[in-house]
Amino acid sequence: MTEREIRQVLNLTGVMPSRQLGQNFLTDASIARGIVDHLDLQPDDTVVEVGPGTGALTNHVVGRVKKVILVEFDSRLAAALREKFSGRTDVEVVHQDAVEFDLRRLFADRPVKFLGNLPYASGGAIMKNFLSVPHPFERAVIMLQKEVIDRLSAVPGHSDYGLLSLRVQSAWHVETVMEVPPEVFYPIPQVDSSVAVLLPRADLPAFDRRLFDELLRRGFGQRRKQLHKLLPDCDDWAALVAKLGMPATMRAEELNLEQWLTITHHFDDHPLKEIPQKGSEVFDVVDEDDQVVGRSTRAEIHASGTLHRAVHIFVFNKRRDLLLQLRSRWKDNHPGVWDSSAAGHLDAGEHYHSCAVRELQEELGIEKEALIEIGKIRPCKATGWEFVTLYAAQYQGALRFPCSEIDAVQWFPLPVIEDWLKNRPDDFATGFIECWKLFQQTSR
Ligand code: SAM
Repeated sequence: MTEREIRQVLNLTGVMPSRQLGQNFLTDASIARGIVDHLDLQPDDTVVEVGPGTGALTNHVVGRVKKVILVEFDSRLAAALREKFSGRTDVEVVHQDAVEFDLRRLFADRPVKFLGNLPYASGGAIMKNFLSVPHPFERAVIMLQKEVIDRLSAVPGHSDYGLLSLRVQSAWHVETVMEVPPEVFYPIPQVDSSVAVLLPRADLPAFDRRLFDELLRRGFGQRRKQLHKLLPDCDDWAALVAKLGMPATMRAEELNLEQWLTITHHFDDHPLKEIPQKGSEVFDVVDEDDQVVGRSTRAEIHASGTLHRAVHIFVFNKRRDLLLQLRSRWKDNHPGVWDSSAAGHLDAGEHYHSCAVRELQEELGIEKEALIEIGKIRPCKATGWEFVTLYAAQYQGALRFPCSEIDAVQWFPLPVIEDWLKNRPDDFATGFIECWKLFQQTSR
């Protein structure tokens, strides 16, 4: 859009560009097109654009993808966008503060991409809402003031390197692809802008994100102080220092992401932090009537398709959202897909109920919650030839899970899960789908 066209829209809507809302509108169509090209649009994509404003970027997206969701805080601009795209069912305008936008509905719309020439004042909070793990995006293209984009991609030794760099880089590969001068905006801002492409990372070892964040906050709380004065006490500090290959006097900003992950792993005291599934675990083998007829190892049972036993637990909060877990990419079965709140095999000699109590504790850190049996599922290919007993529990408190098993957890409203399952069944473990069907039947 040219400056003239933008001024026209602003006149018609009565919008006086607000500094607080970061209302600097892009006036160069070829730059706008160049930014959008970095989204690598595909016909099946859903694009979420935050702060569409007068539509400078939006114009290059609409018509090229399955769906466009525009989240605009300014009511007059949102109304003008609604009017502009009123004939189109593939464009949805949401008049809302993007910091409060509920991302969970977007999982059903994947593949989803994120686009935003973000308002400078609230860009950080918007990024936190949209780009924190777990998120549904496979690519994000953002424009912000150059200084912030430099911080996102900075590495140790660079003056911009810090907490923000590590937080973002622990979830995303960041590449700065464009610098944009102030003159191509109306009104002209006082700062330069840059554009970055963010791609989700799948190359890092499992780590506890909550602990990582807590350690970063401590470490960068007083940048000039030596790290050992800021991190929690630990007996084997010397061993950690040796592992990091750094001097004992190191400071937070001297360590790269991999070293921060080593520190996180070192302070992670979850008993299951290292334990992947062991092929040597022993389970009961059962017959068609779920009667124990022998014992065998996990590896043998899974290789031969022998019948055995497992539990799944659906944990609900007070709003009746269901907690789902994103299985770790390092699991041998169904890696990287969404699953029941907790699930696991019965050990040899174990009962269904005591297994469910144990799994709730081990996988989510939930102690002694009342469990209600929802029902039983007969073994089939989808359950991995397991007899499954499905339980429900209600829980509100903090959750703590082993990063070796679970990448992330999220509470989802039931209608969101229903839509998501319809659109993208492959996003879920097949055992969960069977449990969901049983849950649907019993809650009718
Ligand atoms: N995309 C347009 C462009 O490139 O010309 C406008 C970008 S302008 C830098 C930022 C836009 O974000 C404005 O339209 C502003 O009204 C909107 N905005 C500001 N704060 C917002 C928030 N919290 N949530 C959603 N939109 C917001």
